[in-house]
Amino acid sequence: MPDEPIKTLPLVFDEPRGRKKPPRHLADLSAAERKELVSSLGLPGFRAKQLSTHYFSRLVDDPEQMTDLPAADRATMVESLLPHLMTPLRTMEADKGTTRKTLWKLFDGALVESVLMRYPDRATMCVSSQAGCGMACPFCATGQGGLQRNMSTGEIVEQVVAGARSLARGEVPGGPGRVSNVVFMGMGEPMANYKAVMGAVRRMTDPAPDGLGMSARGITVSTVGLVPRINQLAGEGIPVTLALSLHAPDDELRNELVPINTRWSVHEAVEAAWNYAKVTKRRVSIEYAMMRDINDQAWRADLLGDVLTSYGDWGWVHVNLIPLNPTPGSKWTASRREDEREFVRRLEAKGVPTTVRDTRGSEIDGACGQLAAVDA
Ligand code: SAH
Repeated sequence: MPDEPIKTLPLVFDEPRGRKKPPRHLADLSAAERKELVSSLGLPGFRAKQLSTHYFSRLVDDPEQMTDLPAADRATMVESLLPHLMTPLRTMEADKGTTRKTLWKLFDGALVESVLMRYPDRATMCVSSQAGCGMACPFCATGQGGLQRNMSTGEIVEQVVAGARSLARGEVPGGPGRVSNVVFMGMGEPMANYKAVMGAVRRMTDPAPDGLGMSARGITVSTVGLVPRINQLAGEGIPVTLALSLHAPDDELRNELVPINTRWSVHEAVEAAWNYAKVTKRRVSIEYAMMRDINDQAWRADLLGDVLTSYGDWGWVHVNLIPLNPTPGSKWTASRREDEREFVRRLEAKGVPTTVRDTRGSEIDGACGQLAAVDA
């Protein structure tokens, strides 16, 4: 299915017209396309691979260091394939420097954020896929400002490469390391920017030096539940992990918490997630932000368990509870510990594996749903 606009969707999907596109970047193109472009510039095709090696494998950002490229060729290639895409405006740290949030300014002034989280056994890059978001979930800081624009593949990939650079250079406590996981849980709805997101997934999984050589299993695409896109993703043959932001097991509440539910219901979204698990053999993650006295009642835990197990209990799904992170002006707060525990207990009693996510970075407004990207 080509990436045509979803005609049945509300207008929030349409970007303002007449905007300038982000400059073309090496990471926007497949290895074959890069080679073609380099040849069309009158340079030997193998220069494309050299440039890719600098960008994806050596993580070089300074053209001066590309000494295997003759100066004239280097200038031509940097100009047409390695434009400056984004500028870090501010970095904030938490957890003794192992959580780092970066505020980026894009070429047109749009602001986005990414978060690097280092754990003893892995390092996860949380990336944005859009500047702003059109999904308008009322408990999420990003949703309050609406959608500014889709990000390009290059802009998405550059966030990962920037994280990889700081890890490789030993700037994050714990010694030199690499990015093992990427989660599309920053700003934006990745499925509403499907084509660019898939391009980014391909660049991350393309073997080095054509891409970052990451395992698809380490990549999680999180969505409000754009059903046609979930189905499309199932057919891509790239077994990324799918996370569905459910937040309520009943349509009445979910219509309020995740407004796109009025388009695709709980049942339709969960069925698409189940189908994704069936096709890809990858366990799906159900995200559920725990909001005090809103969606955390025992009966809703039971209902959630019933909804999920109605699709079978072959281990296709697990639930990830997210303690609600505070956002400015929000009337909602996190659940009580005892309600959270009871919620977990009831889900597990129904045979649904359940975990509670940590709230890394919440004190620097870097946790789930807190990314607002204000240049204060
Ligand atoms: N648009 C995608 C990615 C969003 S961020 C999606 O909705 O899935 C990733 C997760 O953080 C989503 O599950 C989102 O619902 C959740 N989230 C948003 N605001 C939150 C908040 N204030 N506290 C906790 N989780 C939040």
